[in-house]
Amino acid sequence: MSLPLNTFTQLENFGHSLKASSYRIRIKRAEDIFETFQLAKKLGLKVTARGTGISYNDVSLNGGGIVLDMSGMNQILEWDRGSGVVRCESGVTLKQLWQCVEPDGWWPPVVSGTMKTTLGGCLSANIHGKNNFQNGPIGEHVLEFTALLPTGEEITCTPNGNSDLFYALISGLGMLGVFTSITMQMKRIHSGLLSVDAWPAPNLSRHLSDICENAPHYDYIVGWLDTTAHGHSLGRGLLHGAQQLKVGEDPRPQESLQLKFQHLPDRLFGVMPKSYLHYFMNPFVNNLGMRGINIARYVTGLRKHNFRQSHAEFHFLLDYVPHWERSFGRGGLIQYQSFVPKETAEAAWRELIGISHERRLPSYVGVTKRHRPDKFLLTHAVDGFSLAMDFKVTDKNRTTLSKMLQDFDRIVLEAGGRFYFAKNSETSAETARAFLGAGTIQKFKELKKRCDPDNLLESNLFRRIFR
Ligand SMILES: Cc1cc2nc3c(=O)[nH]c(=O)nc-3n(C[C@H](O)[C@H](O)[C@H](O)COP(=O)(O)OP(=O)(O)OC[C@H]3O[C@@H](n4cnc5c(N)ncnc54)[C@H](O)[C@@H]3O)c2cc1C
Repeated sequence: MSLPLNTFTQLENFGHSLKASSYRIRIKRAEDIFETFQLAKKLGLKVTARGTGISYNDVSLNGGGIVLDMSGMNQILEWDRGSGVVRCESGVTLKQLWQCVEPDGWWPPVVSGTMKTTLGGCLSANIHGKNNFQNGPIGEHVLEFTALLPTGEEITCTPNGNSDLFYALISGLGMLGVFTSITMQMKRIHSGLLSVDAWPAPNLSRHLSDICENAPHYDYIVGWLDTTAHGHSLGRGLLHGAQQLKVGEDPRPQESLQLKFQHLPDRLFGVMPKSYLHYFMNPFVNNLGMRGINIARYVTGLRKHNFRQSHAEFHFLLDYVPHWERSFGRGGLIQYQSFVPKETAEAAWRELIGISHERRLPSYVGVTKRHRPDKFLLTHAVDGFSLAMDFKVTDKNRTTLSKMLQDFDRIVLEAGGRFYFAKNSETSAETARAFLGAGTIQKFKELKKRCDPDNLLESNLFRRIFR
């Protein structure tokens, strides 16, 4: 195998705020991965696996090195509709997965806010859903995976076999090996619909106490937080708690479980292609416009109500407007997500939101979730909440924004919080050491030495944080 020079291409993160050029090699079979490892070793290049490449930061970027494009290794290898166990290649997307299992009355146990992610990407980041407080991260639903190590060894891991590697490769940011197949348990559903309660929370204190008190009564809970609101209204928002329907609650489950029922329409009002919508949103994505949109959203959600929504609509709202992130303009967007214990979250986020207002760098969108800890090595979870904040990046604010997010890191650390390696782009080596602990980093490095003695697997994030 020789390096196809015409594959040298510029890749970006999801928010288009970071770029890096790499040799992009399309992987079809596990043998291609091994051959690429051999080639990289010969040429002295570093390698990063990439699924869809829609992480918010530099975790799947590898400037000057090789990127293994895993999206072509995307076969669903086995599906048992009786037991709900599925075995997939690692480039299978959540979209392929739910569309395979849903008509048979199953749903993926954990999904991200977009269905475009691959299973390999989801395991490496160990994604959480709106049910993290109940069902943990995706890794807790993996029965077995196989992965190819840079040593050329193919390993099989389960929670009880090779368990140190099981708990480290899942959450391991693709730095220990490359997933080749993944076996997972799906979750039984009795309808294609969820029952959703929606209600307002007038301030941060109520926002968080409502999530905490109501979470045990729902399968999923998520909050939208108006990050532009000040004073007594700081932290206000709208909460959505959703429950699966029980047997008999949907009079026509055979209909609602069909894919056409779950379809997200690609035209607005049946006329305008939604792929154009971000152009119309662009003029409003500034401090004034987003303040107005946040106020309108809050005011129109003041009535407490219940409605039924398809699984796809509830989970993948962010896919509703294709390329919405483009509306943030040329500089793109950064997402800052902090995970803070329930006892300290309110004070910490009051400070974060307050600072963002003082410095005139408000976040335009805020999303809250409820979490519980898990035992994966590079875990981001806590017994508390997460707040994801989206910031617009411009040539003018890039440096001040970065400085502000580093200040945020200090506040979150003091509050006993953690960070998510698929989102934040400012986390430094010191911050990672502070929240993961020296022991965890040491263990990760030891496993890295065992799986990848030549340090072949490296990403821009790895060089930023772990080297
Ligand atoms: C709109 C949007 C909403 C999101 N919502 C959520 C959410 O609700 N919850 C959540 O937890 N996350 C969420 N995310 C983050 C997203 O789930 C993760 O970033 C996920 O890793 C992206 O999947 P990907 O296939 O694009 O992975 P990539 O970005 O391509 O890669 C992510 C990591 O996985 C590694 N990797 C990829 N494939 C393999 C493989 N086969 N073997 C080994 N390593 C591999 C890469 O090296 C990298 O470290 C969201 C992202 C977006 C854009």
